[in-house]
Amino acid sequence: MAFGFDAYVSGAIAIIPITLSSYILQRFVVFNKEKETIKIILTKTIKLRILVSKTRLAIVLPCYNEEEVLPETNSRLLKLLEQMIQSGVIAENSGIYYVDDGSRDRTWEIIENFNLENSFVHGIKLSRNRGHQNALLAGLFTAEGDVIVSIDADLQDDINVIKEMVDRYLEGNEIIYGVRSSRGTDTFFKRFTAQMYYRLLKSMGVDLVYNHADYRLMSRKVIDCLKGFKEVNLFLRGIIPQLGFSTATVFFERRERFAGESKYPLRKMLMLAMDGITSFSVVPLRMITMLGLLISIGSFTMVIWIIVGKFILEATIPGWASSVLPIYFIGGIQLLSTGILGEYLSKVYMETKQRPLYFIESVI
Ligand code: UDP
Ligand code: MG
Repeated sequence: MAFGFDAYVSGAIAIIPITLSSYILQRFVVFNKEKETIKIILTKTIKLRILVSKTRLAIVLPCYNEEEVLPETNSRLLKLLEQMIQSGVIAENSGIYYVDDGSRDRTWEIIENFNLENSFVHGIKLSRNRGHQNALLAGLFTAEGDVIVSIDADLQDDINVIKEMVDRYLEGNEIIYGVRSSRGTDTFFKRFTAQMYYRLLKSMGVDLVYNHADYRLMSRKVIDCLKGFKEVNLFLRGIIPQLGFSTATVFFERRERFAGESKYPLRKMLMLAMDGITSFSVVPLRMITMLGLLISIGSFTMVIWIIVGKFILEATIPGWASSVLPIYFIGGIQLLSTGILGEYLSKVYMETKQRPLYFIESVI
């Protein structure tokens, strides 16, 4: 018995590794019962999310008169979904959700057929056309899944990036932005106006992700936060960067529309651009004040100049131009200012009503 341990001593020694390992488990491993995940925190920035059960993915596509492109979109998405399920990245109850934004062609009929043919496919029919952003929200709030990817129906965005998005999510990110690596397929006009728009918004303090539209992945947590916004003018591209959370970016090459034509004519694009500014920034209102102030100071100095000209220099006052031009100038500024005020007032008007953003006719 000279060198051996008795039962008590070995018991006492065994406590050390047990205490140590339970400390490590407590400190670095986080169990999330609700999401059925285990998170391993290696350092503050490197966190690994290991899934006990697989991620349920939902892909949401707003569709407005997309009968030409839907068959191709659906077959490509189904192939991708099946691949991802087979490779064990996502759960078997993942799905595709088409939102019919009051289309006038056969879009809904096609979606119904997809749904009959394949249980992965679901459809949400809005009672009428409510616009891309509202259709998107209807999809985001109706679809079931741990993560939701929103993407346009026209195959301009590369669907293969969805795999990368899910990978980034599993690394611990809650929002993953799909960003175009170039604007090669855009017309010069669209490229130029888009760039000016980002700059303008940035200068007004609105934080947008450059070259990112509505192709993104959001976790359930983020969707629940979005539900808290009760605004009628919901400009998703502006709101999501304001939510916080850990985010990541994936890049893709944007292609030409697969079929059909753009459902975003210049009029709708301008409206969206205007919404982006007036929902997020009061800088235009302040600019009016500044402009008014500047013009007042200017006209005041002019009055002094006229008095000096009349009584001291005794020069004749220049006639027509100096009296008529300011009238037009001030008139113009006033109209512009009233217009901008009206823009904001209409926003307040719409917001106070708190009208619902969309009505769902049926869900399949
Ligand atoms: N869209 C919609 N409602 C509308 C307009 C467009 O749901 O009132 C959808 C459309 O079907 C497409 C997406 O929004 O899936 C983007 O539209 P589009 O591709 O025509 O815009 P672009 O890429 O030309 O800017
Ligand atoms: Mg498009």
